[in-house]
Amino acid sequence: QAKQEGKNRFRFFDVDQDAIVKSQTALLSEIRNAILENQFVLYYQPKADLEAAEVCGAEALIRWEHPVRGLLYPDEFLPVIHDHPLSVDLDEWVMRTAIEQWDSWHQQGLNIPISINISARSLLEKDFKDRIQHCLGRFPAINSSALSFEVLETTALEDVHHVGDLMRFCHKLGLEFALDDFGTGYSSLTYLRHLPARMIKIDQSFVRDMLEDRDDMAIVDGILKLTQAFGRDVIAEGVETLEHCQRLYAMGCPKVQGYVIARPIKSEDFPNWVKVVSRSAIQHLSDVVKDP
Ligand code: C2E
Ligand code: MG
Ligand code: MG
Ligand code: MG
Repeated sequence: QAKQEGKNRFRFFDVDQDAIVKSQTALLSEIRNAILENQFVLYYQPKADLEAAEVCGAEALIRWEHPVRGLLYPDEFLPVIHDHPLSVDLDEWVMRTAIEQWDSWHQQGLNIPISINISARSLLEKDFKDRIQHCLGRFPAINSSALSFEVLETTALEDVHHVGDLMRFCHKLGLEFALDDFGTGYSSLTYLRHLPARMIKIDQSFVRDMLEDRDDMAIVDGILKLTQAFGRDVIAEGVETLEHCQRLYAMGCPKVQGYVIARPIKSEDFPNWVKVVSRSAIQHLSDVVKDP
């Protein structure tokens, strides 16, 4: 009886695995096709500097306008291409699109640095440097300091020396790096020393709970001291409330990104947000944090 059950269960498992592999293969070819058909879009989430009371950047975040399933978020398709060569093609599409976007905004009088997220696979790809240079070459109007890359801390730690080299190479082109989701890796002093990233982005999981959880508060505080000691710039991500802004500002972190400033914004709405909405939204927060 038990043996019978075991056998059945095993068969079920087999069938499931098969179905998963098949649907992943289907999704892969769908993604390949979606790049060609321009079904991907970039949203832009502003970053604010509460000290200067201004927008200090915007992060490009990918979405998939799927013809049948509607708007899909990265969690729904990026895992499938994790470590697949397709993620390099997608990163290149993002880079090209973000540069084109910056160029068109620049022509409208907007000058906002854009950051893009780079996958682990691209970082390790041999021709990634060529792809970067090629992209920059197509838009000589872009001042390379207007573009920066976000790399997960955990990914950078997979090969500190290689990623460190890539960062130095990009530096020479004027491109800066940010370590994303910082605090979720080892966050060791020695590692940070080998990674010349200009910016550290404190992971939103610590930020979210810092007001209630003393451990998270201690981690945020520790990261701020660390980045200060290393002379790096720092920003808190996932900042949702005024209280978070006040506390972060008081702790020496005036740069914030999160719903308290704005959710990721459609590219066509972004210039209007910057010109019409941002000033009052950020000015108000800035006034309150400076005079609590
Ligand atoms: P990330 O780079 O750490 O981006 C932050 C994520 O948190 C984004 O989710 C953003 O929409 C969300 N977020 C921002 N502010 C808040 C807030 O105040 N509260 C909460 N609860 N969430 C907030 P999203 O857009 O779903 O992206 C998820 C992840 O997917 C990103 O994490 C990034 O690692 C990856 N990703 C996004 N776009 C791209 C891309 O173009 N290329 C690559 N390679 N990866 C991307
Ligand atoms: Mg990011
Ligand atoms: Mg992050
Ligand atoms: Mg993240």
